[in-house]
Amino acid sequence: MTTSIQTMIQNAEHVTFMTGAGVSTASGIPDYRSKDGLYADKFHGLPPEYLLSHDCLVQQPELLYAFVKDNMYFPDAKPNVIHEQIAKLCNAGRASLITQNVDGLDRQAGNQQVVEFHGNLYDCYCTSDQQSVDWHDYMKSMYHDPDHGVIRPRIVLYGEGIAEKALQQSVQAVEAADLIVIVGTSFKVYPFAGLINYRRPGTQLVVVNNEPIPAGSVTAQYTGDAKAFFSELAGK
Ligand SMILES: [Zn+2]
Repeated sequence: MTTSIQTMIQNAEHVTFMTGAGVSTASGIPDYRSKDGLYADKFHGLPPEYLLSHDCLVQQPELLYAFVKDNMYFPDAKPNVIHEQIAKLCNAGRASLITQNVDGLDRQAGNQQVVEFHGNLYDCYCTSDQQSVDWHDYMKSMYHDPDHGVIRPRIVLYGEGIAEKALQQSVQAVEAADLIVIVGTSFKVYPFAGLINYRRPGTQLVVVNNEPIPAGSVTAQYTGDAKAFFSELAGK
């Protein structure tokens, strides 16, 4: 199955990759969803779905801050072969990328065609005066020095909508594809997973993930290590 999917990627006119947490776990970034309960005391047993919600930002901003700082910022992480191979195809004009990841590793890999569907942790601003804030300053304090406004990263929290521009660019990327490759995601998060409904008739859908995903219209699935798959693709 590895070989046939790789051949499909090589032969496609335009590939659109749709990626998730599994791409960045290979760079040492844990999937916060798998850490449920680990910080039960600190976070009063509250689930990530609340800690990363708009309600939490408004009602208990200090909890959201502690959670993202502890569980989501890994500034020393480096892109891996998956980010690099996807960036290479994108920058050659052969592919587009829509990622659910907010870690910025695709940009760090030099990808000029990435749509960050859920935003980017390293893009922070003050919710009071909307000024941009350097993420280093956010790591030191959740309050903006000049006006004591609450700082937040420009990521989509539970209870918030996807940015209009990201949505438009994603739909365009899906419409442009004759092959869609889903990588490192169980593909259960909406509206991300719903983007495939914009594909043209005849566009093939394949999956590279460590577990099968329940998508009825999938042509082929590679169930295994995405890093090994992209290392092999790099060698071709
Ligand atoms: Zn401010």
